[in-house]
Amino acid sequence: MRNRICLLVLLLTFLAGTDPALAQQSLDAMIARDIASLVETYKTLHAAPELSHYEEKTSSFFANQLQSLGYTVTERVGKYERPEWTSYGVVAVMKNGAGPTVLLRTELDALPVDEKTNLPYASKVKTKNDAGQEVSVMHACGHDIHITSMLGTAKMLSELKSEWRGTLVLLGQPAEEVIDGARAVLRDGLYERFPKPDFVIALHDSADLEAGKVGFTPGYAMASSTSVDIKIRGLGGHGARPETTKDPIVVAAQVILALQTIASRENWPLDPVVVTVGSIHGGTKHNIIPEEVDLQLTVRAYKEEVRKRVLASIERITKGIAIAAGIPDDRVPIIKFSETQVTSATYNEPQLTERLAAVFAKTLGQENVVKLPPVMMSEDFGYLSLDQKIPATLFTLGAVDPAKVKRSKETGTPLPSLHSALFAPLPEPTLRTGIKAMTAVVLELMKK
Ligand SMILES: [Zn+2]
Ligand SMILES: [Zn+2]
Repeated sequence: MRNRICLLVLLLTFLAGTDPALAQQSLDAMIARDIASLVETYKTLHAAPELSHYEEKTSSFFANQLQSLGYTVTERVGKYERPEWTSYGVVAVMKNGAGPTVLLRTELDALPVDEKTNLPYASKVKTKNDAGQEVSVMHACGHDIHITSMLGTAKMLSELKSEWRGTLVLLGQPAEEVIDGARAVLRDGLYERFPKPDFVIALHDSADLEAGKVGFTPGYAMASSTSVDIKIRGLGGHGARPETTKDPIVVAAQVILALQTIASRENWPLDPVVVTVGSIHGGTKHNIIPEEVDLQLTVRAYKEEVRKRVLASIERITKGIAIAAGIPDDRVPIIKFSETQVTSATYNEPQLTERLAAVFAKTLGQENVVKLPPVMMSEDFGYLSLDQKIPATLFTLGAVDPAKVKRSKETGTPLPSLHSALFAPLPEPTLRTGIKAMTAVVLELMKK
């Protein structure tokens, strides 16, 4: 009897290896077998989020799971610019003969958001942030979905080793939300200490797309982001004696309006640019003209040359308006382009992205695959491509209850976005689709 079962298993494995439809059925069956426990994993992670730079428990859970699946795991990968910070990056490697090296990436961190979903597994975590203030913490970007999808994918691929060849590298990246985690792991020799990938793949969940669907965006998909701090210095005095002052508030107002001409008048309209002044602080009282005003900006662009030109324009316009206002040379505005709060654009290598889209269509059905327009949001995934030297792509995983998407379209009421205290992915179909899509991608890129 036992021999017969063995023969049957062999026959099924053989058939699964030869017939794509059967292989898919068996992947569905494998996911169905594990989905309940994966949903539990997701809920556990969701209830225990950790802030960027503090992903200690999340990373060790992730590492242990991968180790038990047979991966060679290294913890605490990464070096931050501030050496006192520990990096909780995890790298898991599975070698399976000669073939391409594929890196899959998940983020590990959560956000300082006070969850308001009222779900039974909602986070109640409070902790101290870098500044020592108490904050609530929530997986409001869905990185818990990404971690769980990766664990599910890792399990499928460890069981399907006869279907692929090459080296699989799984990266648990810390500190994505503060955009210094990808650089930290690269600085610590991600591509020297571990096999350097031929392809880099990630997924990100979506707060607009239905669970069960995936999206792809060839080419530029997300913008670069640069934080800019401007200190406009004037000469303060009495609010009733403006003639004795150089009013930095009026200068700041002129600067803010003039900065809007960068996108509208200086830039080729088909090169997307955003210049947003997100914060302005100055003054203490109605009748005092202050000494200075502080502005905080974010700049978004796709192409590096456009980003550089926009930054130069910000400097020129700000200084020019200060000079026009008669601010003396020793009080010119101080403009700082952040070297830490900066990230490159996410460029989805078109050929690789189209190849993935074809795999998705085959695996999930064409009706569940959508081409999505690029956005001006940012993330640090682009660094892992080493400035587009390694083909990389980040695809979108639908995470919302389809009934909610339908209602939102009908009523015109927007759904809670990523980073919202109300963001609540629908775990089971989202994980099922994420694991199926990611496993299929690896089987395509590493097929025998
Ligand atoms: Zn986020
Ligand atoms: Zn995110």
